Amino acid sequence: MTASFAPVEELIREIAALREERNATLLVHNYQIPDVQSVADYLGDSLDLSRRAAESEAEVIVFCGVHFMAESACILAPEKTVLLPREDAGCPMADMVTPGALREKKKEHSDAAVVCYVNSSAAVKAESDICCTSANAVRVVESLEQEEVLFVPDRNLALYVQRFTEKKIIPWQGYCPTHHRIDADELRAAKQERPNAVLVVHPECTPEVIDMADEVLSTSGMVRFAAESEAEEFIIGTEVGLMERIQRENPHKRFYLASSKLVCPNMKKTTLEAVAASLRALSPRITVEPEVAKKARQALERMLAIPRSQ
Ligand code: 13P
Ligand code: SF4
Repeated sequence: MTASFAPVEELIREIAALREERNATLLVHNYQIPDVQSVADYLGDSLDLSRRAAESEAEVIVFCGVHFMAESACILAPEKTVLLPREDAGCPMADMVTPGALREKKKEHSDAAVVCYVNSSAAVKAESDICCTSANAVRVVESLEQEEVLFVPDRNLALYVQRFTEKKIIPWQGYCPTHHRIDADELRAAKQERPNAVLVVHPECTPEVIDMADEVLSTSGMVRFAAESEAEEFIIGTEVGLMERIQRENPHKRFYLASSKLVCPNMKKTTLEAVAASLRALSPRITVEPEVAKKARQALERMLAIPRSQ
C-alpha cells in the first residue's frame, strides 16, 4: 500500500489556517528543508530563535528544529504550548554531555565558570552558569569574571573561542558529526576550483578547517555576511539547509556547499506534513520539569542579557 500525501500548496494553506486558529507562531531554524522554511514566521539561527521564543505573544510555538531548541523555547516561554513536530529530532552533539558527567567535571574545576553551548539538554543548562550560541560565544566568555571556563559540549567551538580570549578554556570533548564531515583535503580542492570564492565556515568545524577559512560565522551571520560582502562567490561550510535561503536572498551571487556530506539527518526530519499534524493535534508537546527549567532559565537569560554585537 502506498502512503498518500497532500500537495504542498494544500498543506501550506492548512498550516496558515491552523496557525490563526491556534494563535501559533512557527520558529524555523536555517537548516530546515526549504518547504518548512517557506511557512516560517521567523527563520533564524539558534540565538535569533531563542530571542523570538522569549518575546513571542503567540499561545503556541511550533519549533521546527531539534529537541534542545524546543526545550529552550519552553524554558523561556513557560506559559506557552511548545510543539516539536518530530519528537525524535535530536542533536547528537547535545547528547555528548550529561548532567551527571558535568557535575563530576565541575568538581575537578571548582574555580571555573561553566559555559554551555545552547546545543545541550535543559538538564545540562541547569548545571551551567551561562549559555552561549555560535553567534555570541566569545562575548559570553569575555563577560565572565572567572579566568577559567569549562566549555560544554562542543570542543571545536571551545577551541575557536580560545583564539580570542586570555581566559583558560577547558573544552568538553563533544562535536557535531555533521560539521566534522568537512574534510580539509576536499576543502583545499574546492578552493582551488573556485579561487575567487570566499570561504565561510561555522565554528562547529574542526580547527584545521577553521584555519583555512576567510570568515567563521553562525548561520545567520553567514546570511548577513553574504548580503554585505562585495565578493560574488562563496564556499559555504555548514549544513546544506542554509544554501537555499542564502541563494534566494542573494540571487546575483554564487554559493557552493563545501561538501556534499553536510547533511544533518535530524534537521531533515521535519516536513510540512509533520508541521500540519502537530498543529492539528497540538502534539508532540515539549515540557521541562519546573526545577530544571528554573535553573536553565537563569543560564539562558544571563546570555540574552548580553548586548548584541554591532
Ligand atoms: P546556529 O544556527 O546558531 O549557527 O547553530 C548551528 C547548529 O548547529 C544548530 O544545531
Ligand atoms: Fe546537532 Fe550538528 Fe545537527 Fe546542529 S547540525 S543539530 S549541532 S548534529
